Amino acid sequence: MNSPLRIGIDCDGVLSDTMPAWVRFFNRADHPHDNINALINSDKWESPEVICPNCFQGILNDYDATLDCDVFPDTSRYVQSLAALADLVFISHRLPSVEQATHDWLALHQIDTCFDKFLFGHQNKAVAAFFECLSYHIDDSPNVAKDFHELDIHLRTKKVPEDRIPKLLLIDRPYNQHSSCYIRFPNLAGPGGAAEFLLATLAEAAASATNIADAA
Ligand SMILES: [Mg+2]
Repeated sequence: MNSPLRIGIDCDGVLSDTMPAWVRFFNRADHPHDNINALINSDKWESPEVICPNCFQGILNDYDATLDCDVFPDTSRYVQSLAALADLVFISHRLPSVEQATHDWLALHQIDTCFDKFLFGHQNKAVAAFFECLSYHIDDSPNVAKDFHELDIHLRTKKVPEDRIPKLLLIDRPYNQHSSCYIRFPNLAGPGGAAEFLLATLAEAAASATNIADAA
């Protein structure tokens, strides 16, 4: 569809509750954290650059660990609502090796066809968001927040127009608490979620376009 708004959406931690899979991975790796609360409260979350290569990568190579994760409540309904009004781009650090499994998982939750484009294995989602002309990207990663912050500074230094600078909507998670410069949302879906913010933004843009057309 031709839409004035293109929105990027991350998978793990945004669409899906991947935390139980992370715990299983830690357990298989003989990691001492044996339950979700111990893991969340551990100091590992304060070192995302350490946890990402070792833990995250291991999970993403594990089909079973990602496929049996559920989506967060109401996520499918909100993604479908957004897809009716905007172009959605799926952007994940997941490797191309789990691409088909991820499509199967998205289809299981009736949202695979909601996405206009899929980007797997992107190392810098902020740069991808810029080149994909995204207005917004929804993510939970502290590393992605750091990349968006750096890109924002760079683009403003280059005097890139405001509407070409992609904005990050950060999903509030225990492991991104030090990423303080973004609007936080409790989840993608539900009251007060990132999707509601974007749906309101889209409604506002549509009303504005109608007013301009009426005045012409
Ligand atoms: Mg994520």
